Amino acid sequence: MASIKTVGIIGGGVAGLAAGGLLARMGIKVKLFEANEKIGGCCATTNIGGYTFNDGALYLALPTMLDHVFAKVGLDRTAVLPLRKITAPQTTVLPNGDKITFGDGLRVTVEKSSGTVNETVLKRELDDMMKRWAPALRLLTEDILVNPLSYSRILTKGWRHLHKFGGTVADELRRLFSDDSVRAAMSGVLLYTGLPPEKQPAISVLGLVTLFNDGFHLPEGGMGKVPEALSSAMLARGGEIHLNTRVDKIVVKDGRVRGLEIRGQGLVEVDAVISTVSGMLTFGSLLDNADSPRKLKRMAQEAQLSHIAFSVQLGLRNKIDAPSHSHCFLPPMEQEGDVFTPCDDGVRWLVYDAPTVTLPELAPAGGSVIEMYPPVHRDFPIDDWSEEKKEAVLEKAVAALSRVHKLDIAVKRIVSPQDFRNNLNLYRGAVYGLSPQVAPWHHFPHRTPIGGLYQTGQTTYPGYSVGRAATSGILTAELLMAA
Ligand SMILES: Cc1cc2nc3c(=O)[nH]c(=O)nc-3n(C[C@H](O)[C@H](O)[C@H](O)COP(=O)(O)OP(=O)(O)OC[C@H]3O[C@@H](n4cnc5c(N)ncnc54)[C@H](O)[C@@H]3O)c2cc1C
Repeated sequence: MASIKTVGIIGGGVAGLAAGGLLARMGIKVKLFEANEKIGGCCATTNIGGYTFNDGALYLALPTMLDHVFAKVGLDRTAVLPLRKITAPQTTVLPNGDKITFGDGLRVTVEKSSGTVNETVLKRELDDMMKRWAPALRLLTEDILVNPLSYSRILTKGWRHLHKFGGTVADELRRLFSDDSVRAAMSGVLLYTGLPPEKQPAISVLGLVTLFNDGFHLPEGGMGKVPEALSSAMLARGGEIHLNTRVDKIVVKDGRVRGLEIRGQGLVEVDAVISTVSGMLTFGSLLDNADSPRKLKRMAQEAQLSHIAFSVQLGLRNKIDAPSHSHCFLPPMEQEGDVFTPCDDGVRWLVYDAPTVTLPELAPAGGSVIEMYPPVHRDFPIDDWSEEKKEAVLEKAVAALSRVHKLDIAVKRIVSPQDFRNNLNLYRGAVYGLSPQVAPWHHFPHRTPIGGLYQTGQTTYPGYSVGRAATSGILTAELLMAA
């Protein structure tokens, strides 16, 4: 550690900024290189014509994990990043006409097209879910996930919960809720994984429990305020952020990192490197073939990737009649895989967010923002996304939305899987890098066999999401300092 004076960080997403903030606080010279013209990566926002659109992440779950990260870099999260709770998170409509609305806390309203739901039973089922899963959530967010991955810690502290982790989300929701429509609405919350409920491991149900326990949140001013606030810690302590600066190679000599080859600038010498780009890119292309550790190179080649995404974002001049943040028109839980299957004749299952319900300031006065991820063929070649093809998806998405809302469109933004790859530098456009099905012990390790080279970000423990990726940055910086 005494010999590490300067650390180069590849990537200015939340993981790189968290790692850089902590290292700078510890007196290390930090040089962060970001290929884009702005920081934030998958947690950035873009303003077009007065409308603020998300480049990636749509909301914050697990605010306590973010509080932990901010405290580590010496910031009071509540002061520098005020959050607004999404108090009307989701409305779901089923083909049979049933409508399920999630309100603040444990408020779930069920409007049946025929008959009524037994409120007492539903309340008991919700309470049972919280009794079963809330302690596991607390243990994970306050202890397991904010510490290095440790089997003994998981076994010693988590053994009481391990029996719950067998099976899938679909199994668990069948076990917890007796009403089909309620189950469909519950599993709808978890479709952000890109997987149908029968393919999600049971532990993913914690994404739902998080909603009911802590709520989902938006930073005032939008998601881009997270990296902005985090970067202030690093900059205040002399850290450097170099934008529009692409790292082409990690330079290794005699089994140790020597520096970074910067496009158009040449070699920048550093004592250690933290790469926050995906493990697939670090071990597959940023290291010379001969330098890349064989096991990690194989991991990169064989990685099970997360889904790709296509996003349609609209800035509307009018206020839409949308009482919830998220709106889902869903089939029964058993058929929710269909949500990811494109139809030739339009968008069959409509799912979209209206962030302006919680943060009206994301649009000019009286306007709204709508963001949706219409399904596209996942095996469509990523290089074939032409403007024409993008427009065709947009047209279907707008047609589906027009059936529900009056749309006075001021701004349209379309982001194809190819754009996610090229603009956010995501490996093959995979939004979370590794699939949510990949277990933590199959994530890329923070420490590599190359002296002074560390890997962090969403393809390392504790995985994807803003809070977790930022936490990975902290864990990696701590590991580096302990070396
Ligand atoms: C569409 C989408 C929706 C999401 N929704 C949510 C959500 O609602 N809630 C949530 O919590 N999480 C969500 N996530 C996940 C979350 O945004 C990410 O897990 C997290 O932001 C990843 O942070 P990171 O720092 O690990 O990586 P990134 O944000 O990917 O940062 C890596 C940075 O490295 C830069 N880079 C890459 N290659 C180079 C290079 N060679 N040289 C220099 N710089 C380079 C990239 O430009 C990027 O800025 C979403 C992600 C996506 C893509």
